[in-house]
This record gives sequence, C-alpha cells and structure tokens, in this order.
Amino acid sequence: MLSRPERKPSRINHSPKKARQNWVYEFAEVVDLYQVHPNTVRNWIKQGLPHIRNGKKRLFRGEDLNTFHSRGRERRKFSCRPGELFCVRCKQRHSLVGRRVSFHWTSPVAGLLDWECPDCRRRNVTHMTHAGYDRLTKAGVNLSSDIDD
Ligand SMILES: [Zn+2]
Repeated sequence: MLSRPERKPSRINHSPKKARQNWVYEFAEVVDLYQVHPNTVRNWIKQGLPHIRNGKKRLFRGEDLNTFHSRGRERRKFSCRPGELFCVRCKQRHSLVGRRVSFHWTSPVAGLLDWECPDCRRRNVTHMTHAGYDRLTKAGVNLSSDIDD
C-alpha cells in the first residue's frame, strides 16, 4: 500500500480517526502522529491504551489508538460516576468511595473538597455544590465538613 505524504496538523486535535485502522505503530510513531510528548503517550498507556509488547518494543494498533481517542472524547463529555472525582494532576477519574475527604464550605450552597489523589498522591482542590456534596455522601465517600449540620 502506498502512503501519501500527509501534512502535519496545524493544531493538536486527537481525532479518533487519526491513526490508520490496520496499521501498527511503534511508540515513537505514536508520539509523532499525535505531536505529543512521550510522557503523554505513557499516560495514555496508564489510562488503558492497549498495546502489544514485542520484546522491548511497545506496539500500538491503529484501531486501538482510534478507539482510545474516541473514548477519551466521551470521557470528557460525561461527568464522573457517583463517588468519582477527576484528578487534574494525572487526568484520571478515581473513586473516593470509602475514603475520608475534607470539605470546606465557602458559601451556604458550595464549598471546596480537599482530597489526595489515590493514584498520583497529589492534592486536588475541587469546587463542589451542595448537590455534588450530597451525591458524594450518598455514594459512600466519607466527607468531613468543617461545620456540623
Ligand atoms: Zn492523580
């Protein structure tokens, strides 16, 4: 199969159709294809991008890359499941069910959730409405607020 020379995209747009479905890409080729830092691809792997190990090499099927990026779009569209929060540090959702998290009311209707990411161990401060607070509590997250209600 002949490959037409392709123009580099002018902006980073992880289109779910970017990779060729029946192609197999090496790590460096994935970096090149999406014009991202190698660490970004390592993060995708952590986030569940399927890959094949071939000795020391990691290979990626175009089909998997496209599926992963189309799911990424969906992931961004939909909010977290009950009890889950999005870590802005490692860009992943984590369940906080059964964990103890401190909550500081900043107004009668909203506050700040101060939590440590169970995965990357970094601190997140998430703004949350009363409704969000209730949803987390119902999901089983142990919220300790600074006022008694
Ligand atoms: Zn994290």
